[in-house]
Amino acid sequence: YDRASLEPFQKEFYIEQDDIRKMSPEEVAEVRLNMDNLVIKGSGCPNPVTRWSQLGLNTQVMDIITNRLNFKNLTPIQSQALPAIMSGRDVIGISKTGSGKTISYLLPLLRQIKVQRDLGPGETGPLGLIMAPTRELAQQIYEEAKLFIGQDASMSCICCTGGSELKTQIQSFKRGVKIVVATPGRFIDLLTINGGKLVNTRRITFVVIDEADRLFDMGFEPQITQIMKSIRPDKQCVLFSATFPTKLRNFAMRVLRKPLSITVNSANMVNEKIEQSFVVCNTPADKFGALVSILSTQQQQQDEQQDSNHNELSDDNDEKTIIFVASQQICDLVDGQLSRNGFDVITIHAGKEYQERINNLEKFKNTPNSILLCTEVMSRGLNVPEVSLVVIYNAIKTFAQYVHTTGRTARGDHHGKAISILDPEDLTAAYILTKTMRPDQLESHSSEQVSILQKMSAEFKAGLESGKYKLSTGFGGKGLDNLDFKRDAKE
Ligand code: ADP
Ligand code: MG
Repeated sequence: YDRASLEPFQKEFYIEQDDIRKMSPEEVAEVRLNMDNLVIKGSGCPNPVTRWSQLGLNTQVMDIITNRLNFKNLTPIQSQALPAIMSGRDVIGISKTGSGKTISYLLPLLRQIKVQRDLGPGETGPLGLIMAPTRELAQQIYEEAKLFIGQDASMSCICCTGGSELKTQIQSFKRGVKIVVATPGRFIDLLTINGGKLVNTRRITFVVIDEADRLFDMGFEPQITQIMKSIRPDKQCVLFSATFPTKLRNFAMRVLRKPLSITVNSANMVNEKIEQSFVVCNTPADKFGALVSILSTQQQQQDEQQDSNHNELSDDNDEKTIIFVASQQICDLVDGQLSRNGFDVITIHAGKEYQERINNLEKFKNTPNSILLCTEVMSRGLNVPEVSLVVIYNAIKTFAQYVHTTGRTARGDHHGKAISILDPEDLTAAYILTKTMRPDQLESHSSEQVSILQKMSAEFKAGLESGKYKLSTGFGGKGLDNLDFKRDAKE
């Protein structure tokens, strides 16, 4: 392609609304965690949206989404891929099957194609190309495209797959077609018909590689590469897949330009090695009793360990505990109460002198089976591998806090447990726990406890949707230390 001869086209259609643009990095991180742990790679990604109305979609599209399809909320991949693609970016979207990937690329594609110059005499199109691995998938995408195109006669769309009539496809191209949904093999066939004179790729400005992992499994890589080579280099290209094996990654890096990769990663929000559990107490006053019972159990296990090791304490069986509380005041209060109950605890909070904090931390590191009582903010960056138990005494209010506090245990190849103590008011924490705990971790609790947790969680979720509740109003008021968080995430 001679760049000078390429007809310009518009890629950017997205205007970030004020309230979305003004989100702090902490708020953005929290929304992404809530959206099944959206992980972004690449720079300049727009903030995620949480409502359809924030996307600036036209009224027909909004009508189809809200009234015909009845989609209340965006799926996680949609909340991030839609603004990114509508900003003109090349995007890699990784999200499991059934998570709404189709709309994530279809709406931006239709919008980009819609504003372009119509096909001139002799131009066959297409302007937009969607590649999918099988006839059935291509057909489904085609149906969905047709739904959004509706009565718009200027937006022709056809489906070209191996099983269907080549003749009719050729006829369609002769009339001119703006959007093609195709399997790669059939599209190549069409490109070669009539010595390449029937279909040409000159005007393609938007390419979708859907179900990329399956396209690769089915051996379509050479065909896709060939097709991509024939398309103008400044096209917009997006790739969607349920999985992202190395082979596909290498291909994507070759074919896409400065892509943003957006991965929905619900399973990995909290380190998989951490055994997560919870206790919902009947009243806030019962929480201390629950704490004592947890610590006693831990101590008992340590004593048994020690017995079986002939009283020798080695690093291998040093099992430290951290208890997280919401404030200095609670820290001092619980410290006093625990001492009276015979537990020796070390405390760190912002009210203590710097030197005392350092000394206490050293003591915690050097004393086997020690217990640290501290506020969440104070524990940032704390790296003590022997911590095998984290007790969250004051329920967390944000995903970031939960990921951070639980992340104090199971470091390196150590094992770890995280127990949250809730009272019936702790709806946010219940919601966060239901989203971060694996089904098998939930099932290890009594069915009564699980149903209490789920009820609390459902109440919070309803409040989140109605606007009554909000995430990201965590204790400490400082939000999340972004750098610290990133480092932890990397570890
Ligand atoms: P994927 O391509 O990720 O496998 P699809 O795009 O085929 O997923 O969507 C799966 C199903 O979910 C479809 O029936 C689709 O209509 C529906 N769907 C898509 N987006 C939403 C949404 N925001 N809310 C509810 N359902 C949705
Ligand atoms: Mg799909």
